[in-house]
This record gives sequence, C-alpha cells and structure tokens, in this order.
Amino acid sequence: MKQITIIGCGVVGAAIAYELSLCPGVQVTVLDRAAPGQGSTAAALGVAMAVISHKVKGRNWRLREQSLHRYPTLIAELESLTGQTIQRNTQGILSLCFDTEELPRWRSLQQIRQGQGYPLELLEPEQVRDRCPHLSTDGVAAGIFSSQDFQVNPTGLTQALVAGAAANGVEFHFDQPVVGFEKEEPAGEDAFCTAVHTASQTIAADAIVLSTGLGTLPLTQTLDRPTAVGPVLGQALRLHLDTPLGQPDFQPVVNGHDIHLVPLGGGDYWVGATVEFPPETTLDMALAMQPEAERLEEVLAGAIAYCPSLAAGTVTERWSGLRPRPQGQAAPMIQPLAGYNNIWLATGHYRNGVLLAPATALAVRDRLL
Ligand SMILES: Cc1cc2nc3c(=O)[nH]c(=O)nc-3n(C[C@H](O)[C@H](O)[C@H](O)COP(=O)(O)OP(=O)(O)OC[C@H]3O[C@@H](n4cnc5c(N)ncnc54)[C@H](O)[C@@H]3O)c2cc1C
Repeated sequence: MKQITIIGCGVVGAAIAYELSLCPGVQVTVLDRAAPGQGSTAAALGVAMAVISHKVKGRNWRLREQSLHRYPTLIAELESLTGQTIQRNTQGILSLCFDTEELPRWRSLQQIRQGQGYPLELLEPEQVRDRCPHLSTDGVAAGIFSSQDFQVNPTGLTQALVAGAAANGVEFHFDQPVVGFEKEEPAGEDAFCTAVHTASQTIAADAIVLSTGLGTLPLTQTLDRPTAVGPVLGQALRLHLDTPLGQPDFQPVVNGHDIHLVPLGGGDYWVGATVEFPPETTLDMALAMQPEAERLEEVLAGAIAYCPSLAAGTVTERWSGLRPRPQGQAAPMIQPLAGYNNIWLATGHYRNGVLLAPATALAVRDRLL
C-alpha cells in the first residue's frame, strides 16, 4: 500500500485527498495545522470562471476545462456519498463590458468557445436589461453570458470533500502543524522524504503533497528548497435585501469591473472582492493582512454603480483573507519540489483555487500514481 501524506486541507488539499481516495492501493493521510478550509478557502467567493475567462489555450485553459468537466460529477458523487448539500449557483455568469474597444476581444472569444463547444452569448444592453432588470446598463457596451460557468460555496465544498474522503478511508489529523521532515539524501541523487513530523507524531510517507497555500515557504525552507508563495489581500461582504433582485428564475452571478455579485438566495448576496497587494513584495502575513475599510467601500460602491438596488441593502458581514500567489512563476504551482523525488507542490492558486481544485487533484493523482 502506497502511503501518501497531504499537508494542508484547504479546498485544494481536500480535493486531492478525495480524488486519491478513489484510487486502489493508496493510503492517504491529511494533516492541517487548523480545521479544514480555514485558510484562503474560508474567504473565497467560489466563483468559477472558465468559459468566460480569456484563457483559451495552454495549461491555464486546460486546467479550467478539466475542472469544468469534473465539477458536476464531483458534486453529484459527494452529495450522494455524504448526504450533504453543497450550496451552489448554476445559473451562469454574466459579465458586464463597459468598453466598446473590448468588444472585438469578446467576439473573438465567443468564436473560439464556439469551436471548443462552449456557448458564450454577447448581449446588447437592452437584452441585459430584459433578463436582469435590476442591473443598470449606463455605460454598458455589452453583457457576456456563459451558462456553464458557476459558483460553489467553498467551505461547504471543502467539508463535503473531507467527509467524502473520510468515508473512503482517508485519515485526517487537524490542529497538527507540520514542523519537519525525515529525509534521505543519497549521494548524486535527488533526496526523498520518508516521514513527516508534527509536534506529537511522525507519519511515514512514500509521497508527500504540499497543498499548504501561504504555509508553503516555511515548509520548503525546512526542506532547503525555499519556494515563495506570497499573500494578496481580498476583502468581501455579505448583504441582505428585503426584496430579492431581478427575476426569480434568472439569478446568475454578475461581474462588473472585476466585482462579483453572487446571489445566495433569500435576498442574500456576496459582493467582492478587493485585490490588495502588500507593500513591496512582502511575504510577511501580518503586514499583508491589514484591510483598509475604504477599499471594501469602493468595491461596494462599484457594485451599486451597476446594481443600484444594492444601496438599500444591509451589510450583514465583512471579512478578508489572503490569496496564495507564487512569486516569480505562474499560478498555480503543480509540480515536483526541485531536488526531491517524492514531494509535490500543489499550491499558489492565487485567485482561482476553488475553480482549479478539481483539476489540480486530477493532475496530482495522475502524476503520483
Ligand atoms: C476574498 C477572496 C475571494 C476569493 N474568491 C475566489 C473565487 O471567487 N474563486 C476562486 O476560485 N478562488 C477565489 N479565491 C482564491 C481561493 O480562496 C484560493 O485560491 C484557494 O482557497 C486556495 O486554496 P488552498 O487549499 O491552496 O489554500 P488554503 O485554503 O489557504 O489552505 C492551505 C492550508 O494549508 C494549511 N497549512 C499551511 N501550512 C501548514 C503546516 N505547516 N502544517 C499543516 N497545515 C498547514 C493551512 O492551515 C490551510 O488550511 C478568493 C480568495 C479570497 C481571499
């Protein structure tokens, strides 16, 4: 039996654990320094922009497309296995375009997607008003609608992944920070790790996956292969309206000026998020984690500009989180840790960890087994 140890149980680590739990001949153990999904995942809005993104080829599109295909089967499997309902919005994503100069780019994307077999509609402003009477079309050049993109509750998804993986035999150890590794370094060859240490236990491993988000740098420093993943702050809020917006049978996620409006049902909405880079390129989490209230107010004002009824809403919650962004390389990092033959990085998903978690899990599974 191959022992695989996953360090980090955000949405990425949990997705990997579940996908590996379906494979015969492996015993999977997951360690996290906290409870599941308490890192970046806890702050995410779970908007999954695949078809409507401008990525059309290469690794970045491939991962998006794989997630798009895996998500429906994954959610169905998890709901049936665990009995949990995973909250999601499958009414599509409507993106508002405010710049006529961007229209040729959208038309070209529409054509490419058509060739790839994905519908993408370009709506005139009047059509946007017809379908979404709650949206202002002042300054709107077009609406781009993708029926296949969606949103999923990141915490609910992570919990269901953990429950599903546990039901399939994966062992979880929470509140167990990993503090070190047992390694062997044969002369002239790549090193390998034989065990992982927490403060209270040692867990043997044939292969190790680091899905540690912002915890990646300290652990890779311990392994003498520092791999920098830095923080980018995001703030978001939840808002309640006594009268829900728009038409009851068409409640897509709306995006305007990179601000998401996510209908949650019952007159509740998520609005966000800010994208705030820390001073210089700090890797210092405390320095990065200083949300400025005005930045979140700007995001709310931006959402009100395209959806004026939000002004009557009551803000019921505000929060912030740090996105894990690789330094000096593209997000995400799904690759072996240089110098080791049995450690894999599955980290640095920056703004798209929820979208890319299923594809990351498939990639890790394929490379490990
Ligand atoms: C405001 C905001 C909005 C966002 N919206 C979206 C969105 O709409 N769509 C989308 O796809 N993405 C979104 N994201 C990004 C998304 O949240 C991240 O990309 C994703 O959560 C990364 O998941 P992860 O599992 O890699 O990291 P994390 O969730 O941070 O998990 C890493 C885990 O590793 C653990 N860990 C670290 N070090 C150790 C150690 N030494 N020992 C044990 N455990 C350790 C941590 O405790 C943590 O649980 C958003 C992020 C923010 C902040």
